[in-house]
Amino acid sequence: MSTIAIIGAGASGMMAAITAAENGAHRVLLFERQARAGRKLLSTGNGRCNLTNEGMTPENYHSETPDFVRPALAAFPVADTLDWFHALGLLTVTEPSGRVYPLSDSANSVLDVLRFAIEGKENITLLTGQPVLRLARISGGFRVETEQETYACDNVIVACGGMAGAKVGGVKDGYALLQSLGHSRTALHPALVQLTTETDFPKALKGVRADARLTLAQKRTVLARTEGEVQFTEKGVSGPAVFDLSRAASTGGEGLGLTLDFLRDYAIRDVFDRLCDRRKAAPQLTAEDLLTGMLHNRLGRTIIRYVNQKADTPLSELSDAALKEIARACKGFSLPVRGTEGFDSAQVTAGGIRCAEFDAQTMESRIVPGLFACGEVLDVDGDCGGFNLQWAWSSGHLAGRLGK
Ligand SMILES: Cc1cc2nc3c(=O)[nH]c(=O)nc-3n(C[C@H](O)[C@H](O)[C@H](O)COP(=O)(O)OP(=O)(O)OC[C@H]3O[C@@H](n4cnc5c(N)ncnc54)[C@H](O)[C@@H]3O)c2cc1C
Repeated sequence: MSTIAIIGAGASGMMAAITAAENGAHRVLLFERQARAGRKLLSTGNGRCNLTNEGMTPENYHSETPDFVRPALAAFPVADTLDWFHALGLLTVTEPSGRVYPLSDSANSVLDVLRFAIEGKENITLLTGQPVLRLARISGGFRVETEQETYACDNVIVACGGMAGAKVGGVKDGYALLQSLGHSRTALHPALVQLTTETDFPKALKGVRADARLTLAQKRTVLARTEGEVQFTEKGVSGPAVFDLSRAASTGGEGLGLTLDFLRDYAIRDVFDRLCDRRKAAPQLTAEDLLTGMLHNRLGRTIIRYVNQKADTPLSELSDAALKEIARACKGFSLPVRGTEGFDSAQVTAGGIRCAEFDAQTMESRIVPGLFACGEVLDVDGDCGGFNLQWAWSSGHLAGRLGK
């Protein structure tokens, strides 16, 4: 009789458990340190759970071993994942961006269908409130120790997730358990996270959203570029476009700067001409109204302050040089980057247990036969948009097959 221990009842662990139970495992023990399974899943996608992305490609993932994701994503691609969830009774909708959400718009629906599938399998035992403390190799299998009990198992799948989202269960346990059996890990960095910057201007703009082209640079070297929505916060910047850059910011080291182009569809010359037109048409207006109609009012006023112009200067008194400087600031608003909001606020961990130590075709350890890993504990992180959960589903599914 084969017993499989799966450590972590998050996205990848629940997928692995259901797959293992359907693939001939006699007994699946699913350990979860928190009081309930899938707690993090409920927080995903702002409570909506962006469970995958129809535009997924292996290039959406980052790792020291980038090709590692290919076999798992090919063995259980997006279409199969959606068929699998639909068969569990979940209805989904795909947004034009490719992001897939439950039709109910509630992450609960995703967790509920997984929970029902687990409860419906007599060979799965879910052990909540049982953190696995130690894992050891014994003759013919493994010893799994929790505070309460010790279990003997034939195979172990480590699905403990990463450090991101500490408030909803991100911990380092998975790294420690795998390291105790001889595995190694890369450096860990928070990713898909807000950036902290010089705060004077962001504070004044707190709550404002703007569409922008973003460039992250270290001195003169561009590290990353993206476009999309930026949200200003008390401590810096957030929003989908910022998340896209956050991995590069988190791993980039010191001396980073973020430049925002708020009028990305207009050349500086066009912006300057428009400012000249406004000065001519309404010379009685003051500087604080110069950008009204072009940008969010608070952003327009902040740009005037950024170029050290007084808000009450009549437009008639603004020289061509001043208007040129304002046009340049609209297209090149720079904020020195201090760092990120850290693992507590991050959605994913960049880095993890080295993938080269695992067989990409099976997710089995090359160091300890019979040991498998899946999900975020491995050195794989995806872009924002449902890619991290897809990695959890694909890698969890492959691991749950236990090399069969
Ligand atoms: C706020 C937030 C929003 C997100 N939104 C999205 C999104 O919309 N789309 C997307 O694709 N990704 C999103 N992500 C990322 C995604 O949730 C994770 O990448 C994914 O859940 C990783 O799956 P996993 O199974 O590896 O880990 P997890 O889902 O974190 O599960 C790991 C489980 O293991 C348990 N565990 C840890 N140690 C032990 C132990 N010693 N013993 C027993 N159990 C243990 C944990 O309690 C946890 O339940 C979001 C993340 C956060 C934090």
